[in-house]
Amino acid sequence: MRVLLVEDDDGVASALAEALYEHGHLPIRVRRGQEALTRYRHADLLLLDLGLPDLDGLEVLRKLRAVSGVPVVILTARNDERSVVRGLHLGADDYLVKPVRVAELLARMDAVTRRIPDQAHAAPRTVIAGDVEVDLTARRVLVAGEEIRLTTKEFAVLAVLAARAGTAVSRQQVLDEVWGDAYLAVSRSLDVHLTQLRAKLGRPDLLTTMRGFGYRFGG
Ligand code: CA
Repeated sequence: MRVLLVEDDDGVASALAEALYEHGHLPIRVRRGQEALTRYRHADLLLLDLGLPDLDGLEVLRKLRAVSGVPVVILTARNDERSVVRGLHLGADDYLVKPVRVAELLARMDAVTRRIPDQAHAAPRTVIAGDVEVDLTARRVLVAGEEIRLTTKEFAVLAVLAARAGTAVSRQQVLDEVWGDAYLAVSRSLDVHLTQLRAKLGRPDLLTTMRGFGYRFGG
């Protein structure tokens, strides 16, 4: 498969590229996060380093997940729990701590790409609650058949909750997915966006606040 290798360290990248090539894959190597965001369309899977020279790898992942479900395996020297948990919350399919053993990497890559069809089936693209319809692919929201205009951030907040309809989502997770690393500065603005969303949707019971935890979309 075509593997986009996002890695700024030349030694690590060339060793990995060689190993991938030897095992029948087609590695495409880029050094910067920004390049990953322009070239992911040409890849079947991304191997994503977190410590990149321009953007943090988690930021790359967050931006990528707003537009693509391409499988992503994080390769990181960081084994701190918070980075790993955030990576998985942001939609990474797996992670490996460097140095990586080639056999394990290949096995994980296989497992991740095998899982994809199931995930595509399991993830609903349109979420319906009463007369509210949230189309996650077209990024459209209909209330009683009328399209509601939302800002990008309002839609992002709604999408995080609607994608897990009926499930409690923590405030932290919403902040992580919508704002990434900047969340400390914007914690208040999540409240503002939710107030706006409730006003625009006109369905006060649709987005439930769970005191001291977070929010829930629908049931
Ligand atoms: Ca690095």
